[in-house]
Amino acid sequence: MKKFLLEEPVEVVGPKGHRHRLLRHFCKGCRICVEFCPTQTLDLDELLKVRVAHPERCIGCRMCELRCPDLAIFVKKGPRGQGAKDEWSKEKGPAA
Ligand code: SF4
Ligand code: SF4
Repeated sequence: MKKFLLEEPVEVVGPKGHRHRLLRHFCKGCRICVEFCPTQTLDLDELLKVRVAHPERCIGCRMCELRCPDLAIFVKKGPRGQGAKDEWSKEKGPAA
């Protein structure tokens, strides 16, 4: 039987220490996160999957994570951000 392989999560850390974890196989390319991001940090790639196009712009607000209907994007604030957390912010989020 053919195995169903899921893509490994993609991690992107910006210069301010804010960390994205992208579960690309869950992303359906709806652009909700792109449109709600207040700093135009995100975009879709040629496969219509979310990518962190400008990590230096991210302010760690987590709007993308909170708006994504498919649990495809997670954000952990960097150590210099206010309210920094040690754990991924969603209980069912992927392990670090
Ligand atoms: S909101 Fe979620 S599913 Fe939609 S493009 Fe962003 S990461 Fe993908
Ligand atoms: S955490 Fe906020 S600023 Fe950073 S990509 Fe998500 S919505 Fe944009």
